[in-house]
Amino acid sequence: MQPVERGRVEITEGQAQLSEEHESRAAGVAPMEGLAEELAQIDARLAHAPASKAIEWAVERFGRDLVLAASFQDVVLIDLAVKVDPAIEVVFCDTEAHFPETLAFVDEVRARYGLRLTVTKPGPGSGEWPCGTPRCCELRKVEPLRRVLGDKRAWLTALKRVDAPTRAHAPVVGWDPVFGVVKVNPLAAWTDEDVDGYLKDHGLPVHPLVPKGYLSIGCAPTTRPVAQGEDARAGRWAGTGKTECGLHAS
Ligand code: SF4
Repeated sequence: MQPVERGRVEITEGQAQLSEEHESRAAGVAPMEGLAEELAQIDARLAHAPASKAIEWAVERFGRDLVLAASFQDVVLIDLAVKVDPAIEVVFCDTEAHFPETLAFVDEVRARYGLRLTVTKPGPGSGEWPCGTPRCCELRKVEPLRRVLGDKRAWLTALKRVDAPTRAHAPVVGWDPVFGVVKVNPLAAWTDEDVDGYLKDHGLPVHPLVPKGYLSIGCAPTTRPVAQGEDARAGRWAGTGKTECGLHAS
């Protein structure tokens, strides 16, 4: 890959292409054909590789233009990522509707790893929209994250295909049409049992609500514990028909 000189910053051809993608986001332009092909090739290469390989690729490729978005439901992705880059930026969207246990867990994990943590806050007008409405998630999660990703070229997520039917075909690496950046899902192929096994094997802290039956944890008003044998995400927005908050198109 030949380096391309841009002002005082030397960047590679691939990075230059991503930079142009970044600049064209506001116009809603899809990724250029070359970039889409490149991401597809990388996804094929990483599809069956350990999660840490996808993180290594993303850190090497994007450096400080990469951010890890964490819900702090569990710490697997954070644990894997800080082993690759101890100074990786982690972002948590504080919707101001989280359980106090979640906020305490964020503090615990931040201290444990010495995280470089960015905490977003809801945008103006969020209080006018009741929990459960699409606009509430938009103003408390999607728009705050969009502001963070506006300075980035890629993000890491803990999305798993088993999370929901809408995520069943999520790639490890792909283009994110919601935010106009590259999206890396190192845990895409993991199961819930893989997550539990990793937490146990590495002696990692567990969100305090998990032992109480909260297997998928979001905002307090729309999260309930699930019964044994019930789908983990049945406790999110129960009875509303809503399944996603808008952060993940796939
Ligand atoms: S989960 Fe509920 S309270 Fe949280 S941002 Fe979405 S709609 Fe609002």
